[in-house]
Amino acid sequence: MPSSRPFRTIGAELLSFLLAADCAGCGSPETLLCDDCREAIRPRPVDVRTPGGLPVRASLPFESVAARCIRRLKDEGETLLARPLGASLGAVLRDTAGTGTKALAVPVPTSRSSFRRRGYRVPELLLRHAGAEPTRLLSTERGGADQRELGVAQRARNVHGRMWSTRRGRGRPVILVDDIVTTGATLDEAARALDVAGFRVVAAVALAATPRHSERTVNTSETRSK
Ligand SMILES: [Zn+2]
Repeated sequence: MPSSRPFRTIGAELLSFLLAADCAGCGSPETLLCDDCREAIRPRPVDVRTPGGLPVRASLPFESVAARCIRRLKDEGETLLARPLGASLGAVLRDTAGTGTKALAVPVPTSRSSFRRRGYRVPELLLRHAGAEPTRLLSTERGGADQRELGVAQRARNVHGRMWSTRRGRGRPVILVDDIVTTGATLDEAARALDVAGFRVVAAVALAATPRHSERTVNTSETRSK
């Protein structure tokens, strides 16, 4: 039974009422995210590796409810979903970073065209809702094809050499953050650019990993209670 009280705060509840939203996960009326779908986006971590060997922990497999919620955030401007999705990312980020870490949380850069289209940067928005301060270090060249239309090898060629860091690292540890990891080519390029600048990329986290990615790796069965 979908709940009509998905939010803790009256303000958000009122806002979702004003938007007359239906659930992003299942389409139930009058709620932005019903209780069942909220449960479905709690972390179910998936560990994958990029082609370059960087370990990536994703909070969720990119499928069903999680995939629909992420598309609603990325493609339909439903930024209120950044809060529950960011909370899911936050759990794996804290796990990966450990306590007392000095690692910077660095989002992969958003292309100018994506930023123009949306008006927000998805990895940064998720990071803020994950309770972390994004450190924007990477810039990306204009041009290049849309990664969504390319295969694994093409994606790697399309992004290689296109990013650079705006600052020197001096050995500072970094955790890279992306919304969806597909082939891992973008994360590899981000890691390369940070490495060149003297940062030490220790890991990467993502909100979700595509099934193609999780098929060829081992899914962890770990489920966090918080
Ligand atoms: Zn639902």
